[in-house]
Amino acid sequence: MNTPDKPLRICLASPEFAPLAKTGGLADVSAALSLYLHRAGHDVRVLIPRYSRIEALGLDIEPVEGIASMHINLGGADLNFGIDRTTLPDTDLPVYLLRCPALYGRDAIYTNDPDEHLRFVLLSRAVLEMCQRLEFAPDIVSCHDWQTALVPLYLKTVYAWDELFRATKSTLTIHNIGYQGMFGAWTLDQLGLAGAEYHLHQDDLKEGVINFLKTGILYADLITTVSPTYAREILGEDYGMGLNNLLRDRADSLVGILNGVDYAEWNPAVDSLIPANYSPQDMSGKVVCKERLMLETGLDVQADRPLVGIVSRLVGQKGFDLVENVVPALLEQRDFAVTVLGSGESRYEDFFNWLKTRFAGRAGFYQGFSNELAHWIEAGADMFLMPSLYEPSGLNQMYSLKYGTVPIVRETGGLADSVEQINPDAASGTGILFRDYNPQGLNWALNRGLDLYADPALWTQLVANGMQMDFSWERQGTRYVELFRQLGQTS
Ligand code: ADP
Repeated sequence: MNTPDKPLRICLASPEFAPLAKTGGLADVSAALSLYLHRAGHDVRVLIPRYSRIEALGLDIEPVEGIASMHINLGGADLNFGIDRTTLPDTDLPVYLLRCPALYGRDAIYTNDPDEHLRFVLLSRAVLEMCQRLEFAPDIVSCHDWQTALVPLYLKTVYAWDELFRATKSTLTIHNIGYQGMFGAWTLDQLGLAGAEYHLHQDDLKEGVINFLKTGILYADLITTVSPTYAREILGEDYGMGLNNLLRDRADSLVGILNGVDYAEWNPAVDSLIPANYSPQDMSGKVVCKERLMLETGLDVQADRPLVGIVSRLVGQKGFDLVENVVPALLEQRDFAVTVLGSGESRYEDFFNWLKTRFAGRAGFYQGFSNELAHWIEAGADMFLMPSLYEPSGLNQMYSLKYGTVPIVRETGGLADSVEQINPDAASGTGILFRDYNPQGLNWALNRGLDLYADPALWTQLVANGMQMDFSWERQGTRYVELFRQLGQTS
């Protein structure tokens, strides 16, 4: 039982953690949430895999006494592993690294290798093994996405004997229900469930499937997701990706909390990556950022031409079929420029490479991952486009608001929760939302953005509205603490 003032003991297991290992928003969120909790005085232990890419960061990494060398047998797979320790750069937040070169010594964070399940089964087991050996009795084990979604089941079965976990509650945060971790039933032995296999979803097993995320939804004490709107959306068939009925059964334990933003990293007034700093009081640096961005991404440097930015994984979820449909025709009709940073499906990479050639000087595309360019686009663009089919939280629209870059978004998930529709008559609102996922919707929204941009006084006000918004972790993090404390009160 915890009391309101007593620091919580929290163990957080995640497959991504910025800046050590990042493919998307999960990395930003797991790191920023951990740091918030740590700074709020809670005892936070983070465990992530020691991927190959972490070696290149030149961190100080030390083996942890007592857990530097361990062994586990998972259905015939004999795995030697150990746990090392570092700190999150520029902070004193300890981060534990799960060392197992046989599983994590690979170029990518995620793979299609036949042992992908095992890579994250080990993470899910190791977090509890680590607690045991450190004699750390967590109030909360905070799990993130399918990669750690077996932890709640392990706590209720394989580790249920251990008094250490008597008061431990598990939370599962769903960052994107589109990724569920589905594996063939042949992996069953390698989950190491030791006779507790009957807890798995039996219909799935009969069909030869094990779904990690579904298992987490079944057994986590609390399920959170990353915006209130997404929490509602995933209860329905359109967004639930086959898990909506199960989630409905657990609706009392499902809460949506919008992600927060780390304003130490994403704030144009202090951002050390962008060409010039600026703030609501002095916006002159934004023009410098725009001109440098245009130059850098191969666009004609024309400060009064509206510039639309995109930074994204190039996958279907993000609405690029609409972009394919609408943007080339609009570039024919109206005078604006677009610059894009991203990588992903070759279909979209090919499209943006084509666009760049077809509209040379008005379309830019950098294929790849670049944190620096992401900051440049946030700072240098006038509008930021996210026409997502679904978007659990989305971070870039919140960064955009802070950078005075008006978001044009589809009204879904966290986009709907963070962007307020502009009303030109009242000079109110922060961005442009379109409801229907179709080319007409996106076409309307882009045209509206360009029309509003043509009224400089109004635009200045709309930009200022967005820059005032506050999505800091100081706000969102308190919600997690409240929920964690409430969980501690339940038996
Ligand atoms: P998701 O998690 O679905 O990818 P989010 O908007 O929640 O979407 O978070 C995306 C995060 O990843 C943001 O911090 C964004 O800047 C970053 N990002 C995405 N693609 C790239 C890229 N190609 N280069 C740099 N950063 C990227």
